[in-house]
Amino acid sequence: MNYCPECGSELMEIFNICPYCGFSLSQFSKKIEKNIENKADVLSQKNKKIQELEAKINKLEKKSQSLGFGAAESWPFFIVFFFIAGFFLIFFFIMFFILRH
Ligand SMILES: [Zn+2]
Repeated sequence: MNYCPECGSELMEIFNICPYCGFSLSQFSKKIEKNIENKADVLSQKNKKIQELEAKINKLEKKSQSLGFGAAESWPFFIVFFFIAGFFLIFFFIMFFILRH
C-alpha cells in the first residue's frame, strides 16, 4: 500500500494522481528520480576529487622518497645516529669516572 506524500491518505498503487487531494504521484516519483541522479552526480564528482587527491599524495610520496626523506628509508639512518650518540655518551661516562679516581 502506498501513501500520498501530500495528504497522507492510503492509495492503491495503480493511482498516478491522489483521488483525495489531486497530488500528482508520477511527477513526485520523477522528482525523486531526479534527486537520486543529482546525488549520484555529486558522489561521482566527490570520487573524482578523492582520486585527484590520492594521485597528488602518491606524487608527493614519490618525490619525498627520491629525495631520501621517505619514512621507509630514513629509519636506518636514525638508528645508526642514536647508536653512535649512545656509544659516545657511554665512552665519556667511562672516561669521566676513570679520570676522577
Ligand atoms: Zn493526497
